[in-house]
Amino acid sequence: LHSASAGTDGCCAEGKAPIGLKKSGCHGFCEMGPLLRIDPEGLLYIKVKVEDCEEIIEKSILKDEIVDHLVYQDHSLKSYPKQEDIPFYKKQTRVALEYCGHINAESVREYIGVGGYRAVAKALFDMTPQQIVDEITESCLRGRGGGGFPTGRKWAQVLRQTEETKYVVCNGDEGDPGAFMDRSMMEGEPHRVLEGMIIAGIATGAHYGYIYVRAEYPLAVSRLQTAIDQAMEIGLLGDNILGSGFGFTVKISQGAGAFVCGEGSALTSSIEGNRGMPRVKPPRTVEKGLFEKPTVLNNVETFCNVAPIILKGAEWYKTMGPANNHGTKAFALTGNVNNTGLIEVPMGTTLREVIFDIGGGIKGGNFKAVQIGGPSGGCLCISATEDHLDMHLDFDSLKRVGAMIGSGGLVVMNDKSCMVEVARFFMNFTQNESCGKCVPCREGTKRMLELLTDITEGRGTMDHLDMLEELSQTISDTALCGLGKTAAFPVVSTMKYFRDEYISHVVDKK
Ligand code: SF4
Repeated sequence: LHSASAGTDGCCAEGKAPIGLKKSGCHGFCEMGPLLRIDPEGLLYIKVKVEDCEEIIEKSILKDEIVDHLVYQDHSLKSYPKQEDIPFYKKQTRVALEYCGHINAESVREYIGVGGYRAVAKALFDMTPQQIVDEITESCLRGRGGGGFPTGRKWAQVLRQTEETKYVVCNGDEGDPGAFMDRSMMEGEPHRVLEGMIIAGIATGAHYGYIYVRAEYPLAVSRLQTAIDQAMEIGLLGDNILGSGFGFTVKISQGAGAFVCGEGSALTSSIEGNRGMPRVKPPRTVEKGLFEKPTVLNNVETFCNVAPIILKGAEWYKTMGPANNHGTKAFALTGNVNNTGLIEVPMGTTLREVIFDIGGGIKGGNFKAVQIGGPSGGCLCISATEDHLDMHLDFDSLKRVGAMIGSGGLVVMNDKSCMVEVARFFMNFTQNESCGKCVPCREGTKRMLELLTDITEGRGTMDHLDMLEELSQTISDTALCGLGKTAAFPVVSTMKYFRDEYISHVVDKK
């Protein structure tokens, strides 16, 4: 409910501004949904049912009272009426998710009302392409899709290409089990995604953009299309953006759900109408990407960070997170944790803060492990034990323990979880999603899955463990793309940290 919100059906309480009700994007606190926020007071009601609405209007709108039983209460029974005071939100910093849950995702007027598209105007009229690239480079923004490649360096490489036709591609093919960050951004603030893409086009001299989004995200597809249509209507997309003479258009390309299409070369191949399969590199996407033309390929979250950097500057962005890992990261916090949901924290936040302060601790037992990042191209997943709880969540800290931040899925497991079963689950996933192009991945993952199934079903021997280790190494060394190269990592990491579980399975045959 928003006092005096524009364009909504409103009623008027005596002595108050008109009141309207609007749909917004995801607030992130999924565990407590459906959520209802009252602005400007910032009250947040949880688990709201239709029959609660009368009481909410009666008390909160007409009498400035709080409906106690709809307010979030923590485990010590402390009540938190204001969203900003709830521990789940308190340690978060929202940059990429800034407008999710706050504006109507289907209204360009609301987006402009909160400062949307000002960064496009600044990029068009106050900056040269080189200055835009320099600002992004200076901010140390790194790709949020998993690899962490410096965005500014990628843009600089495309800017240098002399080809007349260049492309900007947004990777919205989020397929990691347990991940829904990009989906929430596309559904909750589609104009923010478009704004980042337009700026990338201005910076690199690209006039055509594609958003690759999986068809299983129909709301994201429809909201992105609405945003594109609205932006076209008011001259923020088209042949002559804001009368500047610069043209940029965006199309949506829907993927059919193949996980491997999140890999850059498979993704561009799929947009071209071919089978989505990775290819050998070089040439790299920045030189020969979509339709063999220089291409900026970034994921949704990366594009959502662009507009605030252009508006507030690289120095502001660098106030968040440790050196070379600046900014924030969105995570989908799921599994055996009390508060599941979508979160965004400064880079460098510890796993303990995420799981215990924001997540409210472990559900149904004690902490055992967390699976970080998904098995997507270029991502590793690790099983972090108790020793890892004080580990900082940023690109370089995770790399030091042999992991990568991945796209941002965090699956928390309690002490009742069987880590061999977890490894089998991920191997089953990657084996199903292998595109079959190269033998190590196509055949190797199949053999590994058979070995893991034998172990979990009581047919395993110590030889199975040796074979798993040998195959893990071979597949990592020889597979063509990130999916295959990282496919064995759940097995490697669980064998490293939970070897006794594997041994007890083969010895006790359980
Ligand atoms: Fe396809 Fe797997 Fe080879 Fe990648 S590693 S190209 S997914 S078969």
